[in-house]
Formats: sequence, C-alpha cells, structure tokens
Amino acid sequence: MRRTGNRVLRSGAEGNPVRIFHKTLIVSSQGEARLAALANPDQLIVVRRGRNRSAVFACPCGCRDVLVLNLDRAAGPAWRLRFRRGGPALMPSIWRTTGCKSHFIVWDGRIWWCGLAPNETENFPKDVVKALKVWWDAIP
Ligand SMILES: [Zn+2]
Repeated sequence: MRRTGNRVLRSGAEGNPVRIFHKTLIVSSQGEARLAALANPDQLIVVRRGRNRSAVFACPCGCRDVLVLNLDRAAGPAWRLRFRRGGPALMPSIWRTTGCKSHFIVWDGRIWWCGLAPNETENFPKDVVKALKVWWDAIP
C-alpha cells in the first residue's frame, strides 16, 4: 500500500476496479475543463477545438490535483483517447512524476492502478491485459 487515497479507492472496490468516469463532457477551453473536473471528479473532460486537444480530470487518488493530458499529436507526445463500450480509454498509462505519483491506466471508463503490491495485482484481469495489448499494437 502506498497512499491513503489509493487505499480507500481500492478497498472500497473489494478487488474490483473503481469506476470513476460516469460521464464524458466536451468543452472548448481548458479553463472550463478545469472547473468541471474539480466540480465533478467522476467526469472525464475533453477539450475539443476542431480536434481533441486535451483530456482533463481530477486525479483519481483523491489528491484534488487536476490532470491535463495532451491529446493533440501536433502539439507533442500525446495520449490516445478512445471510447470503448464501457467508457473512455487512454493509452499509455498515466504516471505522475510529481505530487501523489499515482500510476494508473484508464480503460473502459475505469481506473486500473499500476505498481500495486503483488497481492493486489488480481485487480487487473488477464482479459483486460490482453485487450490492452491488442489495442496498443493497433496504434500506428
Ligand atoms: Zn493524485
């Protein structure tokens, strides 16, 4: 166990992933996205102007930082955002180098924590790992 925030989320789910993105909101400015993320931690906000620019959401550990991920390849290294049946998916994983240092994957609208203690790895079912690999390999 690393952090209280993560522990609360994990233990509350009894080994299941925590579903946090109940809704996706599309806005046109990052300021608007930040406000929405703070007000609704269960929303993934996409800033779209012509094309997707960034994904904005409250850090799922509960630290109340707002994360902004670039989705625009023209602006530099970018995450891939897809909408699968269960909800939004982002690749690659999000690994914060500052603040809470959380490391997780967003897949099917859920947060999947990475780097857990060995007895917690069952949190990440094999079929999801397989699906992630297929999906990852398909990215040009
Ligand atoms: Zn955090």
